Amino acid sequence: MHLRELYEELLRAYGPQHWWPAETPFEVVVGAILTQNTAWRNVEKAISNLKREGLLDPDSILRASPDVLRELIRPVGFYNQKLQRLLDVCRLIKRYGGLENLFSLPMEELRRTLLSVKGIGPETADAIILYAANKPTFVVDRYTYRLFTRLGLWQGPYKYEALKRFVESQIPPNVEVYKEFHALIDEHSKRVCRKKPHCHACFLRERCPTAQH
Ligand code: SF4
Repeated sequence: MHLRELYEELLRAYGPQHWWPAETPFEVVVGAILTQNTAWRNVEKAISNLKREGLLDPDSILRASPDVLRELIRPVGFYNQKLQRLLDVCRLIKRYGGLENLFSLPMEELRRTLLSVKGIGPETADAIILYAANKPTFVVDRYTYRLFTRLGLWQGPYKYEALKRFVESQIPPNVEVYKEFHALIDEHSKRVCRKKPHCHACFLRERCPTAQH
């Protein structure tokens, strides 16, 4: 199966996902940092706490007391590490004179700059670049790896950069397509291609080499 075909079939099955659920690009940045190793509902709680306190912009976050911030983001777990990352990214944004200036960097330079922040890995950096800066980088995650492996599209271990290059070599750069494809892979993986797959309910089962009948 070609990746483009998989994308189109997932889109037909689930419809557009309209990710990322956020009101502003900065909210996407915050969400991308806080969502590491936690469920999205916890991120929603933390973001709504920050919003309620008027702390959803880099300047306010940098002025706020770390103790207060820690309490507000507590629902996401690992809150000390995540607070440090959030503060470092806010400092980076400030150093560039705002998010728009930072995002005006060429994509590869933006990626390198984000990756230079301690604790910001490729998945977080790419989520920020794709969903907040609207530049065409593909976001890979463990769901991508699991689904591609089960469908026989990927062999070998999880390698972020190689998987990303694989998708980008088959699907030409397109912000909207990359946004949807990543979201659709996650949707399919949460609904049916779970850790223990629900193959009986999967529309791909006839073409999936690892389908359990
Ligand atoms: S048939 Fe099963 S293993 Fe294959 S994609 Fe569907 S849920 Fe995943």
